[in-house]
Amino acid sequence: MSYFDKFDQKKQHIGVFDGAWQASGKIVPVVSPIDGEAVAEVVTASSEDCHRVIASAHQAFLKWREVPAPERAEVVRQIGVELRAAKENIAALVTLEMGKTIGESRGEVQEMIDVCDFATGLGRQIGGLTLPSERRAHRLIEQWHPLGPAAVVTAFNFPVAVWSWNTALALVCGDPVIWKPSSNAPLSAIACTAIAAEVLTRSGYPSAVTSLVVGSGRDIGDTLISDPRVPLVSYTGSVPTGRHVGKIVQERFGRPLLELGGNNAVIVTPNADLVMAVQAVFFGAVGTSGQRCTTTRRLIVHQSVKDEILARLKTAYGQVSIGDPRDEAMLMGPLVDRKAVSNMQEALTTIQDQGGRILFGGEILDKQGGCYVTPCVVEATPNMRIVAEETFAPILYVIEYQGDVDTAIAINNDVPQGLSSAVFSNDIMEIERFLGATGSDCGLANVNTGTSGAEIGGAFGGEKETGGGRESGSDAWKAYMRRQTSVINASGNITLAQGIRFDVDA
Ligand code: NAD
Repeated sequence: MSYFDKFDQKKQHIGVFDGAWQASGKIVPVVSPIDGEAVAEVVTASSEDCHRVIASAHQAFLKWREVPAPERAEVVRQIGVELRAAKENIAALVTLEMGKTIGESRGEVQEMIDVCDFATGLGRQIGGLTLPSERRAHRLIEQWHPLGPAAVVTAFNFPVAVWSWNTALALVCGDPVIWKPSSNAPLSAIACTAIAAEVLTRSGYPSAVTSLVVGSGRDIGDTLISDPRVPLVSYTGSVPTGRHVGKIVQERFGRPLLELGGNNAVIVTPNADLVMAVQAVFFGAVGTSGQRCTTTRRLIVHQSVKDEILARLKTAYGQVSIGDPRDEAMLMGPLVDRKAVSNMQEALTTIQDQGGRILFGGEILDKQGGCYVTPCVVEATPNMRIVAEETFAPILYVIEYQGDVDTAIAINNDVPQGLSSAVFSNDIMEIERFLGATGSDCGLANVNTGTSGAEIGGAFGGEKETGGGRESGSDAWKAYMRRQTSVINASGNITLAQGIRFDVDA
């Protein structure tokens, strides 16, 4: 019987791992948004469990930091191999727990595999610079050392990918990880931790390098982020909680890496390919039931093409199949829970109170007892207060602009968040305006492709209230290491920088 056969049959799981599976906190049910049924229960972490896990991770760090980086990378490579083998099983768990379609869940696991491959290569690249010294026979170098245990607090909507973005990099950099997953998705976290721990154990390393604490954000999350033995807190979630996390971590001079909410816009200019634009907006707004941080929430469309865009959007939205996300034919599954459904309904009321007009969608669907809704398109103006907020639901605001692309860019930038953005245009001048210093103020700015579905090779993250953190590709690894600048003097004399003389006979 395979690991997952046994896993699927178990009705109670332990939600704490620090080299051993042991938990003494509350027992909580795991409810699937597919049909509202409890699929299992999890023993969560008590406060004592959390302290014990932090201590174990610290002990693991003392050993892990001495393992050469290419050897650490080999462990990450093997974790990637195991994730490949378990792709279908993990995807099925993600879909069961949080309701994204099975195709999107497979894509999420593929991201995990890809980032392991990427991080494996990093094992031989995380070096520093050698810089010219102003002093004769001196060498000025930069080194990157392991930092310490990293808390990785994750959101429900990418329940496993975000852990892997952090963990693959952190492990190569020499940092153990303590994962606090979303309470909506503890089972996939337990399975991924077991996979990583098995690789560490069989390779002869402490398995507390990949630890886990399932528990409530307010209790366990706070304990974890407040502890000075955890120098890095990588937090993914909403802006209000991120603000709280940032303050606590900064207060103790820890390092917060914040990946918070977005309010992403697509600009469609008169020079756009409208078919491509609609296809991208459709995936961006409806994919993952509008529950991606990079979901397209605002469509800023030039007056001259608005009617055609709306007509094409209506045709596209008419084709969306909504239902059991395990059914390959579905494009949209449920929202994550009942609260998400009521939040969406409240937002739709507020939208209308503020002068917005629902063009289509926004109904609750009575299906299998699950949390199903129809995606919604709303005509809005940029000055409606709710347009500046992230409503984590499939609601797309259509906002008309007149004039040149700078007007549309100003609307794009006029929200507190700064994660993802896109322009659809075949005019090089408009594209350059959008990508230039006075263009989009977001961490991600795309041309003729949508706001969502980032590749792992680039650094991922956003500006302003999105938090400023960067994860995954490019040089995001630097956040997981401590930088040290060193001077080596081989001159045989003490020479001071800036030509200062301070001679003494000694
Ligand atoms: P959330 O803020 O409700 O929860 C996120 C995580 O924080 C959970 O694990 C939760 O238990 C934990 N938490 C809650 N209170 C805490 C506390 N006091 N201390 C420590 N941890 C605490 O978010 P969610 O509803 O799970 O996810 C949706 C949000 O996440 C959206 O705003 C979305 O945009 C954002 N998100 C951002 C990115 C990104 O990369 N920028 C990626 C995914 C999701």
